[in-house]
Order: sequence, then structure tokens, then C-alpha cells
Amino acid sequence: MSSKKRKVLDDLEQPGRKSQAAPASQQSLNVAASDDAHFRHLYDRELDFKQLAEKDVDFAAVLQENGHLDFTEPKAVMQLTKTLLSLDFNLKLELPDDRLCPPVPNRHNYILWLKELVDTSSYEPPGRPACGLDIGTGASCIYPLLGTTQRPSWRFVATDIDEKSLQYARENVALNHLEDRIIVLGRQPEDTLIPLRGRENEKVIHIDFTMMNPPFYESEDDMLSSAQSKVRPPHSACTGAPVEMVCEGGEIAHISRMLEESLVLKEEVQWYTSMLGKASSVETLVDKLKANGIDNYAITEFIQGNKTRRWALGWSFGPMRPAEHVARVKTSGWKKVSPPVLAIEVLSLHPGRSIDHAITRINEVMRSLELLSWNWDTDARKGTGRTRENVWSRASRRKKMRDQSTSFSVLSSAAPGSDPVQCRLGFDVAVEMGVPTTTVTVHWREGHDAVMFESLGGFLQGKLKDLR
Ligand code: SAH
Repeated sequence: MSSKKRKVLDDLEQPGRKSQAAPASQQSLNVAASDDAHFRHLYDRELDFKQLAEKDVDFAAVLQENGHLDFTEPKAVMQLTKTLLSLDFNLKLELPDDRLCPPVPNRHNYILWLKELVDTSSYEPPGRPACGLDIGTGASCIYPLLGTTQRPSWRFVATDIDEKSLQYARENVALNHLEDRIIVLGRQPEDTLIPLRGRENEKVIHIDFTMMNPPFYESEDDMLSSAQSKVRPPHSACTGAPVEMVCEGGEIAHISRMLEESLVLKEEVQWYTSMLGKASSVETLVDKLKANGIDNYAITEFIQGNKTRRWALGWSFGPMRPAEHVARVKTSGWKKVSPPVLAIEVLSLHPGRSIDHAITRINEVMRSLELLSWNWDTDARKGTGRTRENVWSRASRRKKMRDQSTSFSVLSSAAPGSDPVQCRLGFDVAVEMGVPTTTVTVHWREGHDAVMFESLGGFLQGKLKDLR
């Protein structure tokens, strides 16, 4: 592929991420793990156009004889999107020529991240029921289509302010027989982004997460010069129309609007998320989150093709925290912006050392503490603990000794999630089998106290160090 075309194909994405299994404490209403793995790895490798042409005659018709796809040709770009949606998701799509044609791998990337964000920030098994709000769904309605296809228990509210996009979005929902799971809702530019207050539509009762691919550009000139640098014909399916791509203040203004609304709605929605087109916007917005006392947030980076990057940011007022790999960007330069550490390795077992011995010790240590609850899952080699305070520090243990000598202390046997008011910290201690070393890691699952989590990590490191 020529570098010029590579540049235009700016939405090929990185491989998906590893999913963390949740305790199997409930009956599974979720997706089969194999289905999730299938979707996660769909676009790990560069697209094979010849193979796509063999599978789809409509795609063969737009592919050049030399096996290249002309990314400057809107018809070819649109057919690629239709072909991928059809072959990989069994979805149909109709689009006008003058609205954005979404590149499937990039949009899929956001859905993959959201699935893990929702899954890992709960004690329920992966695939819990959730209602998403897609703000600015576009003519394609792509996010709700991709989300409902992969998650049988998800529903969506899809909004837009553009009449033409709304009309096509409704058609695309009907074309895929998803009317009972996706509501398309027309909005005015001055309306709130999140249609919860005011009850404009009685069908929108509850939203678990929001998502948004905001207009990135601050002006039409800004958009046109970017399109020119990418050799795209302006105002076509490749670039999108100004109504889709431009808003005053660009993405920072749009996402700040979501932040303002979230400060009112707070925990009514568990996750507020948005895609971002500029790294500097991520920093600006994280500063705004911190200024508003929001400590539970997640950042991810979508790497597309050689150069183009996109980011997604999510924040929550609730205590449930996402997994480390979902919330923190690994590449250098992101440390300052990233949320606090969510996983601490507390033991690395040399090959030949007994794993059973380590498991016994972990359980002994945890049961010796006055936790609200501690449940060990033998199959998953993982325990979940919840505590109302730091019960492992020297001061706390001395206090316990004093109390025991004078009174009878009662241990609660509360199940995870049953005592949200009293729990200051929820965590997993997981034995993670690897070659050649097996590690024990403590994962932060619940609460707002980073210092307490780090203290627990330090305590466990000390208690397990002779097992190395
Ligand atoms: N989600 C689609 C389209 C993104 S383009 C995709 O990813 O391909 C941004 C969309 O946001 C456009 O369709 C635009 O009409 C819509 N939009 C702009 N301002 C909006 C607002 N205030 N409320 C809802 N949608 C808005």
C-alpha cells in the first residue's frame, strides 16, 4: 500500500485487549467468552483486500486490478465499510453520499474498550445488561449497531441533531431489525447532550454509559485543511459534512459540555465517555476532571495504521474501578495524565515454587484480617475482598488486640456489593499463571482511596515475600 493511501486509511486499529474474568458468583446472563475473543481479534491484522473480494462480489467490483483500494474514491471507501459490517457482523448499512462513512475497525475499537470498561467495573460477570447513549450517532448509527450485535444484553439510545442523519439512522436500525433495542432520538443543538433530565422522551429512563465521537474541528477551514492534507475530497463520505465534523470550540468544548452535565447527573450514569482526536485535548480534559474532584477515570489509546492515533476518555462518580489495562495507557509520556495505579504485583513465584502454598498463605493472611468479606474462587484462583477501613496496618492490628482483650468482635459475612456504604476498598487478589513465572497481583476494584490500596499492596508484598 502506498504511504499516501496508508495515511488516508487512518482508522486501522490496534489489537484488542485482554479481558479480565469477573467472579462467577451469579448465573451467567452474559456472552460466551469465545464470542468475545472472536470480536476482539477481528482486526488484529491488516485487512486482506483480496480475501474480502473473494467473499463479496460488491467489494470485488471496487477493488483495483492490482489489489489496491482507492481510498480517495468515496464509493470504494463506502463499499469497504459495508463489506466489513456484512461479513464480520452480519449487519446491513445504507448511507447517503454526503455524510460520514465510518471506518469499521476504528469504531469497533471503541466498542471493544467500552465492553471491557463496563465489564471490569462491576462484580457481575462480563456481559451485564446495560443501556448506552450514543451522542451524535450519525447516518450510520454505527456504534449502536456494533454494540448490540456483540452484546445481547445491551440497548442503546442514539441521538443526533441532523435531520438527514436521523432519517438514515432510523432506516439502518430497521434494516437490521433492532427497533426494540435501539431508540433513535432527534435533538436540538441547544438541548442537553444527555436526554435524562426533563424527561423529553419517556422511553429514556436509565443510561449506564455515554459514548460520543464528537465533531473534532473548530471551524470549517480547520476541517478542510485537514482533509486536504489527507488527500480527501472535501464534503464526501470520507470526510463528513460540516454539520458532522465542526463545532464551536472543537472537541474540548463538546466534551466539556458532557462533563458539565455529568456534574449534575453524577452516579445516575456509571460511565461518561468520549473519543478524542488530539492528545492535548486528553490532558486538558483530565485536568478538568481533577479540578472537579473526579479520581475514577480511564484513558485508552487507539493506534491506527502507522501514525494516526485516537484516544478515548471515560470518567465515573461511582466507586467501581476498571481494570488496569482498560484505564491506563502503557506507552511512555502518559504517566502524568493516567489515573492512579489499579494493579500491584505482590509476588513473583520462581518456577518450581508451590502455587498451592501461595494460595494457602493468601487465604490465611486475608482471613486473619477483619474484612467485610473475603471470598476465594478456586477455579479462577482469585479472591475478592472488601473492607470498611485499613485493617492491616500495625496501628489497626494493635487496636484489634486491645479490643479483643476487652470485648467480643463480630465479623460481617456480607457478600460483595451488598454493603456499598461501608466499603472503602474492594479488591481482588489473583494468582496469574505465566511462563516461566507465576505472579500474584492485587487489583483495585472499588473505592476512591488510592493510598489505602497502595498500602494493602505493600502489606501483601511483605506477607508473601518469603514465598518467592
Ligand atoms: N457517531 C458517528 C458520527 C460522528 S460525527 C460516527 O462515529 O461515525 C458527529 C455527529 O454528532 C454528527 O452526526 C452530528 O450531527 C452530531 N452532533 C453534533 N452536535 C450534536 C449535539 N449537540 N447532539 C447530538 N448530536 C450532535
